[in-house]
Amino acid sequence: MGIMSLILEIIYPNKCGFCGAGISKDKLICHECAGKLRLDYYIGKPKDIPGEKPIELLMYAGIYSGHARRGVLRLKDSPAANVIKYLSITLIDKIKEKGLDGKIDYIAFVPMSRGRESKRGFNQAELIAKHIAGELSKPILYDAICKRGRLLSQHKLKSYRQRQLHAGSSYYLKRGAKRIDGCTVLLCDDVITSGSTLASCSELLKELGAKRIFAFTLLSSRNHR
Ligand SMILES: [Zn+2]
Repeated sequence: MGIMSLILEIIYPNKCGFCGAGISKDKLICHECAGKLRLDYYIGKPKDIPGEKPIELLMYAGIYSGHARRGVLRLKDSPAANVIKYLSITLIDKIKEKGLDGKIDYIAFVPMSRGRESKRGFNQAELIAKHIAGELSKPILYDAICKRGRLLSQHKLKSYRQRQLHAGSSYYLKRGAKRIDGCTVLLCDDVITSGSTLASCSELLKELGAKRIFAFTLLSSRNHR
């Protein structure tokens, strides 16, 4: 090992994405976490997503539970790149194997409100999108979807109608967003729960002319098989 890389390793030690323990530079996960992690890769139709078939294909590395959940929760506090790399490595291989990469024109991500993002310092969905875009050599679709800040918390919105209006209006298209007519977009987020967030963003991308939306999440709160 050269002196420079030794110094860099001391300043920036490589850490297990799932527990933070020190690991060698060529690893993404420690031995112990690798033994605890249960993944269940899925690439297929999403099940029970709101809206009229807004997402054609859903892919994720496992269910949001146990050690996998622990890793993704760490992403809320720090840009734990090793979690993203580890959970997406096999999916990226599968995307290439199935020739799906040839169909994808853009990589997009679920936005955060500006206030929340500046408080956290990063948007984990954007970090995922950047990683995938790098691995598949695709451009990232910036300046398309935005998220409104949480002006009113949900419990302050008393009526059902008010809550509906608020939920439907969290995401919007940025003025002057470029057209992506006929394109296929891979939309990234950390976890899919009900699918309503991905569905809202997907519908906005379709307003811009996108033909097909594929969704990429690290984990899913439920099984789509
Ligand atoms: Zn670990």
